[in-house]
Amino acid sequence: MAVPKRKTSPSKRGMRRSHDSLKPQAYQECPNCGELKRPHILCDACGHYNGREVISPE
Ligand SMILES: [Zn+2]
Repeated sequence: MAVPKRKTSPSKRGMRRSHDSLKPQAYQECPNCGELKRPHILCDACGHYNGREVISPE
């Protein structure tokens, strides 16, 4: 089995982990009802997408 020759230094470990953080999810206002929704995703509140009603809300 291949085994690392040296222990990863705290500096190298930190460099690797510098890309590990999660970014907050993007939100924008629905142009139809003004609720916050995720971009490129059907609005949860009114069921509109791209200017038309795709599903009718409850
Ligand atoms: Zn909406």
